[in-house]
Amino acid sequence: SADYKEKDKGVNVQVLLRCRPFNDDEVRTSAPQVVSCNEHRREVSVNLNIAAKQVDRTFTFDKVFGPQAQQQDLYEQAIVPIVNEVLEGFNCTIFAYGQTGTGKTYTMEGNGRKTKDGTMPVDAGVIPRAVQQIVDTLEAQNAEYSMKVTFLELYNEEITDLLAPEDIARALEDRQQKKPLALMEDGKGGVLVRGLEEEIVYSANEIYNLLERGSAKRRTAETLLNKQSSRSHSIFSITIHIKEATPEGEDLMKCGKLNLVDLAGSENISRSGARDGRAREAGEINKSLLTLGRVITALVEHLGHIPYRDSKLTRLLRDSLGGKTKTCIIATVSPSVHCLEETLSTLDYAHRAK
Ligand code: ADP
Ligand code: MG
Repeated sequence: SADYKEKDKGVNVQVLLRCRPFNDDEVRTSAPQVVSCNEHRREVSVNLNIAAKQVDRTFTFDKVFGPQAQQQDLYEQAIVPIVNEVLEGFNCTIFAYGQTGTGKTYTMEGNGRKTKDGTMPVDAGVIPRAVQQIVDTLEAQNAEYSMKVTFLELYNEEITDLLAPEDIARALEDRQQKKPLALMEDGKGGVLVRGLEEEIVYSANEIYNLLERGSAKRRTAETLLNKQSSRSHSIFSITIHIKEATPEGEDLMKCGKLNLVDLAGSENISRSGARDGRAREAGEINKSLLTLGRVITALVEHLGHIPYRDSKLTRLLRDSLGGKTKTCIIATVSPSVHCLEETLSTLDYAHRAK
């Protein structure tokens, strides 16, 4: 579709920008606004003009969503075509990238799920809406299909299964004994995570339950380990197999996969005073984010070498980045002057991916 940057080799990377509204704190302290969005022109401007600092920069993206944009607006304008690709049998990945507190988790998960009377809550994010679109479409087509969900967390280049049924105490013990799940080549150009729970699901409700279970586990582990969610990446993946008949009456299996990735906070961790043990962690987190940036740049610019192997994140997503896949990056920023430096680095990172 025209929304994608399609070059001769068919690389499809779409970069969206979303600016969240001011939060209560920012309103209370009357934080000056430095970000303005022009959705029509697909432009974001950052302006500051004080004696100590002058900034005046404008960036263009494939789509821009200002503070008034609702979850539904973003979903309908940017995500529906991607989920349609998945239903056609392609692998697609949607990333949320940005500073902690700018709305990555709100955008991906949001709050609430479809109620019994069939309405989607206004705060529901990309994941529940995508699940609903997939199920609704397949049901309307009366298709014969199956769905499989995995949900994992990547922290410090180590993989944790967010759907594993084990109790949290054992999970923590495993982690302390350094028994993260191993990532292996599957011999078909992809990778597999040994022992990763794959849940077969039959309804949107079952998927919502898994999402809630995994998110709760992520939060509990965070609290117990005294770490911040901002330092881990999470990957929620839905694989669908659809049985179709060819005109000749033969069975054909169509398989599509959607990865929904809530990336670690992009803030410069060294600046927040990380030292010693945490310095390594900072480095590892930046490693995945930096490698992701390099992989996307290499794909967009058709460089011969795509450095997938340089981080676990890009190894995990290898079969869904490049080739015939579609990639969407949702960069999130705050409107406030207090986030100015991080906002500029998010805009630079996201713009490089275009
Ligand atoms: P992140 O995951 O990037 O750290 P969150 O998604 O947790 O950030 O968002 C931080 C806070 O801001 C949350 O309370 C969230 O509900 C709120 N928020 C973020 N984006 C929006 C938005 N577009 N509209 C309304 N509230 C938002
Ligand atoms: Mg978050």
